[in-house]
This record gives sequence, structure tokens and C-alpha cells, in this order.
Amino acid sequence: MGHETSVRSVRGMNDLLPDQVDCWQEVEAALREVTGRYGYREIRTPVLEHTELFCRSIGAQTDIVEKEMYTFSDNNGDSLTLRPEATASCVRAGNEHGLLYNQTQRLWYAGPMFRHERPQKGRYRQFHQFGIEALGWPGPDIEAEIITLGERLWRHLGISGLTLEINSLGSVAARARYRDALCDYLQQHEGMLDSDSQRRLARNPLRILDSKDARTQEILQGAPDLGEFLDTAEQRQFSRLQDLLDAAQINYQVNTRLVRGLDYYTGFVFEWVTDQLGAQSAVCAGGRYDGLTEQLGGRSTPAAGFACGLERLIELVGTQQLMSPRRSPDLFLVLVGDQAEIRGIGYGEELRNAGFDVLTNCGQGNLKKQLRRADASGAQVAVIVGAADVESATCDVKPLRGQGSQRQVQADELINDVRKILDSTLN
Ligand code: ATP
Ligand code: MG
Repeated sequence: MGHETSVRSVRGMNDLLPDQVDCWQEVEAALREVTGRYGYREIRTPVLEHTELFCRSIGAQTDIVEKEMYTFSDNNGDSLTLRPEATASCVRAGNEHGLLYNQTQRLWYAGPMFRHERPQKGRYRQFHQFGIEALGWPGPDIEAEIITLGERLWRHLGISGLTLEINSLGSVAARARYRDALCDYLQQHEGMLDSDSQRRLARNPLRILDSKDARTQEILQGAPDLGEFLDTAEQRQFSRLQDLLDAAQINYQVNTRLVRGLDYYTGFVFEWVTDQLGAQSAVCAGGRYDGLTEQLGGRSTPAAGFACGLERLIELVGTQQLMSPRRSPDLFLVLVGDQAEIRGIGYGEELRNAGFDVLTNCGQGNLKKQLRRADASGAQVAVIVGAADVESATCDVKPLRGQGSQRQVQADELINDVRKILDSTLN
């Protein structure tokens, strides 16, 4: 006994303890409130999916698929993956259940995601994303709506200092033209690029814009500009979007170097970034992904959405600022002796039926000890049942805060009496 090493959680996967969960629940309530304000409805999909779902959507040559996925084969030999993100799952579910058949959908989700990255502050192996997906609208109107929803959420949570960066990746054709130009430029500097970027140069040079390597980023300063490769229809949609954002009084910066780490984006892309979280600057990111439903075997459906890292968001909120005081019980039930315990379990249920929060003394103890526990619990009132009370169907009611003294009441008067005390302490 006692010489076993203790079992720890998996690296990069955190417990959320009750004090933290209080704060998470407030953020979750804000998500429900703000999404509801715009008519978005929650969807819940499994954390495990066929590996193929992510290979076909996120893209084979992305960081996520190349090195970050938790993939294993189950007992049937099927290759399964813990979801690294949820957009692909939403689209899969939409296809599978006919949600996109002559319909539009405004969806939101929140839940754990899994990526095998190097754990550090703001970067974990199990983390949580909140996201929205708007399926079925091609225009800048829905893009602007998504942005206003995000901005409202930051405001609701009291977060300031986020910068919104936007860009347009253009059509498939525009991107192919840009890709050639970028490739020509980068080939001249090939030896200076980081090794991942060198490898991607031949097959997927746009990925290089997303490189986190400082020297590669420096070389990219001189690269051709994606904005100049958009055709007029895309330029018009992007400038219409900016008109809508202006009308909604939303601040943004156009960043023509902004690409996203997942292959499925087309057209509009964006990111909210902050300088308050050190190296982990991206809080929320998204864009348009018109090709994805078809890529996953459904009928072509225009779509746009974003995903937001909840750990980073909560770090920004600052736990203190948000947390409402911990909920204290109304009553503490002191039960002295075996018979009192038997009587007391019934009183506890009746008091809870009447709407009170009741903490029952468990683990026995004498009167003094139990009253100390009652005091420490933060309860307003102690209800005391002793051996003598069992025969007479009475109990003692003792206000623990403020004025009022202990008195004996009949059990059938208990609820009314307690209510009177609690009402008077509220006023
Ligand atoms: P980063 O550049 O920080 O790796 P990303 O581009 O991989 O982010 P997305 O796939 O766009 O991130 O996911 C959306 C959001 O999810 C990010 O903006 C971030 O807030 C959050 N996020 C992504 N990966 C992690 C992680 N490993 N731990 C915590 N949050 C994460
Ligand atoms: Mg990443």
C-alpha cells in the first residue's frame, strides 16, 4: 500500500475544477444568449469521427492532418480520429440528415477538440472551441452577420482590445493564379525557408503564408499580394462586406497576408487577434468555405463560420471579473443522533421541494461540530434536529447571519418559518 505512483492526467489535457467551472458556465450562458439573439441553434456531434472526414476537409498537407491528430484504429480496424475541430462534423451531419436540402441552417456548437501540439499557455492537447456555421448563404450579408455576432459576444463578456483582420482568398481560379506567382517568388528564396515550408513549396505554397517561422515570415514580406489577383466579382463582394461592417460600426483591418491553417476556406477569411496572450494571439478565426459540403459528398452549399478558442477567451475575460459569488446554501441541516438522521432526510427533501438549497450534515458529529460546519457552509439558517425532537416532531431553527435568535418550531411549521427568516434577511 502507498508505494504505487499516482495516476496523472494526460499531458496537455486539463481538469476544470469547480471554481473554474463556475466561470466556464457563465461564458457558456453568454454563448447561448448571444447565438440565440441571432437565431443560431445548437448542434452536438460526436467527438470521434472517421479519419477520412478530416483528411478530406482540413487538407492532407496541413499542420493538423500531418502531425496533430489523435488517430487510432478500433477493434474493427476502422481508422478513427478524435475531432481536431468541428466544422467538418457540422457539414457531415448536415449532409447526413438532409439539413441542407433546400434549407438554410444557422448552427452553433461548443465542446472539446483534440490536437497533439506542444502544450504551453493557451495551447493544449484537449481544448474547447465555440463555433458557428451558417450554411446556405452565398453573400456578404451572412459574413457581416457572423462578424457582428462575434463582436456582440466580446462585448457581452466585457472583452476589449481584440483586432479584427479580414482578407479575401478569392475564387479557386484566382488562387491558382496567385499560387503560381507566389511559387515563382518563393523559389528564389527556397534555401532560406523553414523545412516545412520547403516541403510545401511544390505542393501547397499558400500554406507557407501561415508559417510560424520568423525567417520565413521575413521573406514573405516581399511576396506578391493576394489582393491584386482577385477578379472583379470577388473584389465587389469583399468591398460590399466592408460597407456592411462600416454600417455596423465594426473596426477591422484588411490583411492581404492572412490565410487560414485549413484548406477548405474560399473567399472571405478573418481572425480576431490580441496582444494580451503572448505568443498565442489568435482568439477566433473563420471564413467562407463554399466547397466543403460537396467535398464531403453532399450537394454544393455556400457556407461560412468561425471557431473560437474558449481557453483563450476565458483567459482574456479574467476569472475574477466574471465570476459571480459562489452559491451558498439557504439551510444547513444539523442532525444529532441516529433517529434524527432518519427524520432529517425527510425534512431535507421537503425543504428542497419547497425550493430551498439545503446542505445536509453527513458524517455525524456532535452538535458543536455540526454547527461549526453549518457556519462554514455559508448557509443563512441552521435547522437542528436532536434526539428529543424526534418524539415531539419539532426542530430548532437558528439564524446564522444577522439578527434573530434560535427557537423551536413544529415540523409542519418549518417551511413557513424558514421562509420568513430568509425573506427578512433578504430585505
Ligand atoms: P494557432 O495559429 O494558434 O495554432 P489555429 O489556426 O490552429 O490557431 P484554428 O484551427 O483556426 O486555430 O482554431 C480556432 C481557434 O481555436 C484558434 O483561434 C484558437 O483560439 C483555438 N485553438 C486552436 N488550437 C488550440 C490549442 N491547441 N489550444 C487551445 N486553443 C486552440
Ligand atoms: Mg494550430
